[in-house]
Amino acid sequence: MKKFILLLSIIGFFSCNEKTEVNSAEANASNVNTEEQDSAPNFGIVIHGGAGTILKENMSDSLENAYRAKLEEAIRVGHEILANGGTSLEAVQATINVMEDSPLFNAGKGAVFTNAGTNEMDASIMDGATLDAGAVAGVTTVKNPIDLAYEVMVNSEHVMMAGKGAEIFAKQQEMEIVDPDYFYTESRYKSLKRIKESEQTELDHDSRSAFVDPFIKDSKFGTVGCAALDKHGNLAAGTSTGGMTNKKWGRIGDAPIIGAGTYANNKTCAVSGTGWGEFFIRGVVAYDISALMEYQGLSLQEAARRVIQEKNPELGGNGGIIAIDHEGNVSMEFNTAGMYRAKMNKDGELEIGIYGE
Ligand code: ASP
Repeated sequence: MKKFILLLSIIGFFSCNEKTEVNSAEANASNVNTEEQDSAPNFGIVIHGGAGTILKENMSDSLENAYRAKLEEAIRVGHEILANGGTSLEAVQATINVMEDSPLFNAGKGAVFTNAGTNEMDASIMDGATLDAGAVAGVTTVKNPIDLAYEVMVNSEHVMMAGKGAEIFAKQQEMEIVDPDYFYTESRYKSLKRIKESEQTELDHDSRSAFVDPFIKDSKFGTVGCAALDKHGNLAAGTSTGGMTNKKWGRIGDAPIIGAGTYANNKTCAVSGTGWGEFFIRGVVAYDISALMEYQGLSLQEAARRVIQEKNPELGGNGGIIAIDHEGNVSMEFNTAGMYRAKMNKDGELEIGIYGE
């Protein structure tokens, strides 16, 4: 009997030990999982499709759905590149390409018309790791201006090219060139006609207000931009636009100006702006956000709020920015009624917005 009890205790001891081992193996496995998740490199992406007088009451359900679907399609393209270990520059470019190819946004295909009835596009891109940058202004035949900005950055010793010279460079780089008619969209053409008509009415009424009022107040801007942080810890930002409807005299906005419409620096953040370009240039908006972080130790959100909610309107401007910092924190700040926007983090959580809160 004693022997039997001894045998039972020995069996019990081993089976109990086995269980403990299984439990601790499970515990180890789950520790590894959480550690893996925690130590997995962070990444994220944020985009805008323009800020302006975007009001729910002026939007049909089908148009709203079309914007949401395109914003989602664009951000998912960039997110996938980042998830697969691609660079922030690749993600920014590919994401902007999707929006440039859509007539919904004022960039590429959907670019607005100048006073002369042409489409003149601006774009820029910046690498936060090296502070390299490329920009183009006033191009009329390049299908995807952001790609040309990238070529300027990597295949020339310059930062910015404009007009005819930029088009020659585009051909040399074998970029996709299209007939200027490619950029014709009826809705943008109608906007030009409407603005010109009201400009004429204003002119008859008061010659001083003619330039500003119809040009700005009712504009729905529609520039596109993207900022991203990749798994390697590098930031990048890019912006592409047709500028502002009815622009004259070879007017260039903030989008191709590094520091105004676009900025990226691994030390701080990557920013793309949209809004009334003249004020973004004068306020050096994108760089100002980065500088507030670098020199005053502000968080990305504090810096973005200061610039977009205080400094920009105080100067008389309007618009918004999207930005991401080196830790993956995101800001989507605007002082207009709405801004087409979306963000996606490393866990694939997606947020899309159009109107203000
Ligand atoms: N910032 C652009 C420009 O002034 C316009 C926009 O954001 O829609 O050219």
